[in-house]
Amino acid sequence: MKILVTGGAGFIGSAVIRYILSETDYQVVNLDSLTYAGNLDSIPATLLSSQYAFECVDICNKEQVDRVFLQHQPDIVMHLAAESHVDRSIESPNCFVETNIIGTYNLLESARVYWLSLADEKKAGFRFHHISTDEVFGDLACQGSKESQNGLFVETTAYDPSSPYSATKASADHLVRAWCRTYGLPTLITNCSNNYGPYHFPEKLIPHMILNALNGQALPVYGNGLQVRDWLYVDDHARALVLVATKGQIGERYNIGGHNEKRNIDVVNSLCSVLDDLVPDKPDGVEHYRDLIQFVHDRPGHDLRYAMDASKIQRELGWQPEETFATGIRKTVQWYLDNTAWWQRVLNGDYQLTRRGES
Ligand code: NAD
Repeated sequence: MKILVTGGAGFIGSAVIRYILSETDYQVVNLDSLTYAGNLDSIPATLLSSQYAFECVDICNKEQVDRVFLQHQPDIVMHLAAESHVDRSIESPNCFVETNIIGTYNLLESARVYWLSLADEKKAGFRFHHISTDEVFGDLACQGSKESQNGLFVETTAYDPSSPYSATKASADHLVRAWCRTYGLPTLITNCSNNYGPYHFPEKLIPHMILNALNGQALPVYGNGLQVRDWLYVDDHARALVLVATKGQIGERYNIGGHNEKRNIDVVNSLCSVLDDLVPDKPDGVEHYRDLIQFVHDRPGHDLRYAMDASKIQRELGWQPEETFATGIRKTVQWYLDNTAWWQRVLNGDYQLTRRGES
């Protein structure tokens, strides 16, 4: 079995590749253009073998994407490549439209032509798995009239994206569904809640707070910090994704979540408590890490609450998260303490020099 993973140098894609390389004998091709968010240091050299190949390709480059399909002949595509940071999408939406919409369209078209060219047996087994977000459903706090169950997003909740990021991800989801319904391309879609864990790029909430705290810098919390997110440990997500990609029902959607609804301020306070516990030698002038918290201007259009009902994937595929928020957050902080070389290379830009497994 050969899996083509797009965005495999990113936070979640690299977790998927680490999982495939360490837990399965599947071949994996990592297709990634190595934007600022792509980091090949996130796939340790010790895991690399002939099981792995890397293609430095932009999904917006149709010719190159076509070549990768022909050269590598994948059985499954797991599509994670995306521009993923909401704040950046507000500042510069253009590359979000390019990668998340046009790039997904290119990939679908390349996949469709490749799939049609396959011999019957391989054609019957082909699967295209699109990885998406709970943010496509919009703000649960304003969903009085919307279909949701016990105040949670279900697979049939109507799309109502708020940010340029979530609008482009919603567009991509719609394209994938259309390619399934119109052309019969065997697709699956997963929508997942906020991930956290090792190898997370420091612009995102949890690593940003950990690294600022360790450096004695302010911990900026948007608005009043009461925004609620459902948090999932990234390795639990990676396991769910490989399960859906290989065993999910074609044409279906699966919500994935951690059953860990937390207000942002509570996430930051939990991080501070774990840091107080694990790092007794604090930066000068810091008695408790929570003293560094500072409330800053809220993000425009900030959704107040997302929460997932992940009962379908549990019921149909037997997946459930292994980490609770308490265990996952402690593991995450410990990982950043043990892996200073990884994040220092991100902060000083050296990570962009790494090139591994190129085919
Ligand atoms: P990330 O930003 O860490 O990684 C994205 C990867 O895609 C990077 O390696 C980047 O180099 C690559 N990439 C970007 N544009 C590309 C292009 N044009 N061509 C080829 N590669 C390109 O993102 P992530 O957090 O790992 O998210 C992965 C996927 O999961 C995304 O589709 C995202 O929408 C989805 N998702 C993320 C979360 C989360 O909490 N991070 C939650 C649910 C869903």
